[in-house]
Amino acid sequence: MGAERFALIGDPVAGSVSPAMQRAAFRAAGLDHDYVAVRVPARELEARWPDLAASCRGLNVTIPHKERVVPLLDEISPEAARIGSVNTVVLRDGRAEGHSTDGAGFMAALRRAGLGPHRRAVILGSGGAARAVAAALRAERTAVVVAGRTPARTRRLAEDLGVEAVALEPGPLREALADADLLVNATPLGGRPKETPLPVGVAIPPGATVFDLVYRPRRTALLARAEARGCAVVEGVEMLVEQGALSFEIWTGAPAPVEAMREAALRALGEASGA
Ligand code: NAP
Repeated sequence: MGAERFALIGDPVAGSVSPAMQRAAFRAAGLDHDYVAVRVPARELEARWPDLAASCRGLNVTIPHKERVVPLLDEISPEAARIGSVNTVVLRDGRAEGHSTDGAGFMAALRRAGLGPHRRAVILGSGGAARAVAAALRAERTAVVVAGRTPARTRRLAEDLGVEAVALEPGPLREALADADLLVNATPLGGRPKETPLPVGVAIPPGATVFDLVYRPRRTALLARAEARGCAVVEGVEMLVEQGALSFEIWTGAPAPVEAMREAALRALGEASGA
């Protein structure tokens, strides 16, 4: 492959880790490609799509386009079709092919940490990331309960993917967690100091693995609490790196230089010298 252009499209994209991570990957693999972040406001996706498709060899897609991009594609992978969301696009021979690497990235992060398989998972949140994680866990035969604050959205996810749904409230959550060996935070709660997605009075099950998708900060209040209880913890940055590595592999057909990507991601998050 000669030098090609890749892009992240979304809004906002400033502060995204993907450009640093993918550029580091191309460099480490000896590829002369460029990767840029392009702010595409929600209303402009359709109008700007022909130019993006013509000028790039591949895209990462983030909020608010992960679902809206689907009708613009010529083909979609079974995994992306199952969750109705795309985060990686390959543009080849005038055709656009969509994939989702979030679920596989989540599973890869667990595997790399030497954790799993898990028997029963509770996922907090019922948005796009919860969908990807729930589908990936189901595919590996883990029983899944999603706990969401908006009943209709949570129910729809549960029906689409054949998992259980409960309200993100102390009673139902305590019951769901009693038998769980994996707890996943797929809400944005934890981005602020001391903020946690678990309602007051709900304990983390002892011995469970706790995976927080929030990656800023790396060590959220939920993970700190889990670690203090002796739980195995996985930081969101690990999924960020693995989903990016899978995008790289889809675009190039070559194994991703995961360590170089991880270093670049941590540097971009300003935490390279951290844990
Ligand atoms: P999303 O589609 O907007 O879904 C967010 C979910 O969180 C929704 O179910 C929402 O509930 C719930 N939520 C938001 N605020 C809440 C609150 N105050 N109380 C209770 N529930 C609340 O977002 P997403 O794409 O799934 O992303 C979720 C998080 O995962 C984000 O922080 C994102 O950065 C992170 N993420 C990380 C990675 C990674 O690689 N580490 C990958 C993907 C996403 P409603 O349905 O009621 O609105």
